[in-house]
Amino acid sequence: MQKTNKIDLFTPLDLGYTQIKNRILMGSMHTGLEEAANGFKKLARFYEERAKNEVGLIITGGIAPNFQGRLHPFGHQLSFPWQVKKHQLMTKVVHRHGAKICLQILHAGRYGYHPFIVSASKSKAPISPFKARAITKLEIKKTIYDFTNTAKLAKKAGYDGIEIMGSEGYFINQFLAPRTNKRKDKYGGSFENRIRLPLEIISNIRKKLGRNFIIIFRLSMLDLVEEGMSFDEVVRFAKKLEESKVDIINTGIGWHEARIPTIAMMVPRNAFTWISERIKKEINIPVVTTNRINSGEDAKNIIRSQIADMVSMARPFLADPGIALKIKEGRYEDINTCIACNQACLDQIFKNKVASCLVNPKACHETEFVNSTAFKSENMAVIGAGPAGLSFAIEAAKKGHNITIFEKNAYIGGQFALAKKIPGKEEFNETIRYFQGQIKKLNIKLILNKKVEIANLKDSDFDRFIFSTGIVPRMPEIKGIDHAKVVSYQDLLNKELILGKKVAIIGAGGIGFDVCEYLSHNPGQVLPALNREKFFNIWGIDKEYKRRGALKKASPEKAMREIYLLQRKSTKPGLHLGKTTGWIHRYGLKQKQIKVITGVEYRNIDDRGLHIISNGKKKILDVDHIVICAGQKSDRRLFKQAQTLIKKPCHIIGGAEKALEIDAKRAIDQGVRLANQL
Ligand code: NAP
Ligand code: SF4
Repeated sequence: MQKTNKIDLFTPLDLGYTQIKNRILMGSMHTGLEEAANGFKKLARFYEERAKNEVGLIITGGIAPNFQGRLHPFGHQLSFPWQVKKHQLMTKVVHRHGAKICLQILHAGRYGYHPFIVSASKSKAPISPFKARAITKLEIKKTIYDFTNTAKLAKKAGYDGIEIMGSEGYFINQFLAPRTNKRKDKYGGSFENRIRLPLEIISNIRKKLGRNFIIIFRLSMLDLVEEGMSFDEVVRFAKKLEESKVDIINTGIGWHEARIPTIAMMVPRNAFTWISERIKKEINIPVVTTNRINSGEDAKNIIRSQIADMVSMARPFLADPGIALKIKEGRYEDINTCIACNQACLDQIFKNKVASCLVNPKACHETEFVNSTAFKSENMAVIGAGPAGLSFAIEAAKKGHNITIFEKNAYIGGQFALAKKIPGKEEFNETIRYFQGQIKKLNIKLILNKKVEIANLKDSDFDRFIFSTGIVPRMPEIKGIDHAKVVSYQDLLNKELILGKKVAIIGAGGIGFDVCEYLSHNPGQVLPALNREKFFNIWGIDKEYKRRGALKKASPEKAMREIYLLQRKSTKPGLHLGKTTGWIHRYGLKQKQIKVITGVEYRNIDDRGLHIISNGKKKILDVDHIVICAGQKSDRRLFKQAQTLIKKPCHIIGGAEKALEIDAKRAIDQGVRLANQL
């Protein structure tokens, strides 16, 4: 392995018998296309778009080696020769662009979502409704055969190698950790017995496929669950993997059932590179680092300072298929950064839908966007510079239209400009930075501080009008709503108002949760999303790794003020938050000791505070301020006028079109798709 100071992100990685052209690995992502109709053709386009833009090595989404190992009953498995042909669609296009591609073999074990699941021992994962039975010794033999068979078929399909998924709490990880391995035979008990299964799989694959086939092992370096592996065991296992002729060790962080966020937006950037660095010091094969790496500069620094030999980025390749090339060319400002929201990728996968990306709706839908140039260039006016208007403007300008954006505020971004002020949501700054850069680059005319009236547009020479005027906050009809104690969430965030020590929040949707987070901190306070040590302390991650799983007692921080979060419904608050992040927000409320009251009836507001009925009893919350987060209404005023006064095509998109459950994913998708049609 090369160990000189001159190694850069674009220095090839020499594996002896083969070379990877640079140190950028596109991490494994299940896209949902694996199981979709015509999915492999679409997957090939998806991978091609990334391969032609300089990625070094692509790892496919996890593919099961047998039926028991599937993630769900219709999950993809590679076990039969007739399946090879569809995989060749992908390997061919990737190789055409000089990149390499490895197939990830993932056996779900007790994380499978079907009744046929098996694990090291009989057990039920907290994230699956099904109980796994203990795999028999005979079935273990068969499973080793199945992994080898999948690897053989992968080689036939043209893959450069395989990645064995040994982390995130899946089947192999379930054998490695005493948490889930209670076996009494040669595959359980001692450390040597627990690591036997993965070593037998690797040795069998090497025996059958020879040396010239890349084997990557995704090693769980931090289990982040009770009775996980100890640091000593992780190191000893890494050394055994090296002896077994594994080519590359990839980093895995946290089991899926761990109650610690590992990839969400509130996780600090590069939060876990330290553990890859520690493991790298113990072995002599390349180590890949991963999790919350989304910046080109960071990726370069990681390699330059020899923290790891390769950098894995997964979601950043959904957000921007060209990220690797842009890093190579130093065009950092052109990168559409992954903001780690999970909204259009992982949350979609959990709903059994095809993944995409909030900031790039073309991801995994490449075949649907074919009109790259406009048939006839038009002059278009976009009214409103929120996510819908901006994404329309950028896509339309790329196609050759002349775009003018009118924005009533002195800044762009709409709801994103508010979201970026929430602690833990700083990544929204990146999308606004990207929008700003593209406006300049594409010569889009941006007119700020301009409150448009239809009379001004009526006789203008625009050919088409796009109304992306957004939303207005809903003001509930509560007696005393005009009281000085009442503040809208927009005013709170826009004007950065300093509120009193006791605050009630009306509305426990996404914005209510965000406002809770905002009010929990004081201005100038060190924020956990920007400070790794603070994040580790709050969530109980032990960098000293004194205990199994690298856990320590969590030290959550109480909110800086007394906060009541209220909702009329009796259901769980934040019910519609994302599947993969909602639990973090709800857990955060508990950590901060926010007082949540559901089933509330609002009576009135006066100098004494907010009068409510809760559990049939009248109560006064003697708060200093009341923040209204009661949803939104569409701002359609201009569009309605335009429909009667303007004789040219008018369109309405984003929150202006539909305020109910307005979300940026839909707004951006609508903007990009409309522009693509014109
Ligand atoms: P929302 O999710 O629809 O929540 C609105 C809240 O206001 C509900 O709790 C509702 O509960 C209450 N409400 C509605 N009408 C009311 C009335 N007349 N009087 C009093 N209370 C009323 O809307 P949002 O919080 O504004 O969020 C907008 C969208 O952005 C949502 O789709 C949300 O999921 C998304 N978002 C997500 C996140 C995130 O994932 N972290 C963050 C921000 C926004 P009751 O009717 O029961 O009182
Ligand atoms: Fe990243 Fe969000 Fe896009 Fe997923 S949806 S790739 S987390 S920006």
